[in-house]
Amino acid sequence: MRHDRPPYKPVEGKTYTLFGKSNSTRDYYKTIHELADRIMVLLPDLQQTIEDLRIFSGRKRVLRRLPKNMSSTNPAAEIARLVDPALKMYTENVEEHLKTLPLSKIWDRRLATSRIQYHLYMVEIELTNRLFIKEFIKADRKIALMPYCLQDFSVSCRSARNGFDYQCKSCSGNCFQNHASRILRDHGIEPYIWMEGDMKRLAGYTLEEKRTFGVLGIACVPELTWGMRNCRKNKIPVVGIPLNANRCIRWFGSFYHNSIDLDEMERLLSTL
Ligand code: SF4
Repeated sequence: MRHDRPPYKPVEGKTYTLFGKSNSTRDYYKTIHELADRIMVLLPDLQQTIEDLRIFSGRKRVLRRLPKNMSSTNPAAEIARLVDPALKMYTENVEEHLKTLPLSKIWDRRLATSRIQYHLYMVEIELTNRLFIKEFIKADRKIALMPYCLQDFSVSCRSARNGFDYQCKSCSGNCFQNHASRILRDHGIEPYIWMEGDMKRLAGYTLEEKRTFGVLGIACVPELTWGMRNCRKNKIPVVGIPLNANRCIRWFGSFYHNSIDLDEMERLLSTL
């Protein structure tokens, strides 16, 4: 049964928005799905492609020379050439943000993410979803980690600690945490607002009990990419849904209403 959803209005991020110029995020997901389909035809070894992307997206000096000097010998450079024109409309504020980034913050890899890195991260998230979704769905214990910034800031949030971390108490029909939590529960996933929980310890306990363990992450594009890499490194099947924009205190100095594409979450979790 489909419950009434919160209003789905475009949100602008400090550097990116998955709405682009549109009133919905459908075009973004159509684009990223089509790009991933093409990449998987060109480079069928998905695991290797994700690893190539991880390494290549960290080479800032090489990336700075792109697209002028786009070498076709590196598969990840091929991907950069393919995805850059299609994803540019979603990352229009990156350059302005980088121009005004204080020197003291230039070493923060998330804050200093370049435009081409955003595009490579977007592809890496989608390909990682494709690599792990079936393993994630089959896991004995599945948790979702949602960011605090996805809540309804117009009410006094009643979420409370329960088990691993905080859980939503469904106090607002306009809250994306609330609707995401319901979808996640319907799919056998424990939804948490990630505040204090120690994910490594939880994974350790679950694996000690000889149960398989999977994680669904929700975060802005750079945070989600780094979190998914961490899970891959620890051999945890991971999938992720990017926030529609980066609007939290880290980027703006204050929290602003944010959203995720709930239809995309349902589509991902219905993968057979
Ligand atoms: S619906 Fe849940 S997450 Fe949203 S404000 Fe209420 S308790 Fe907090």
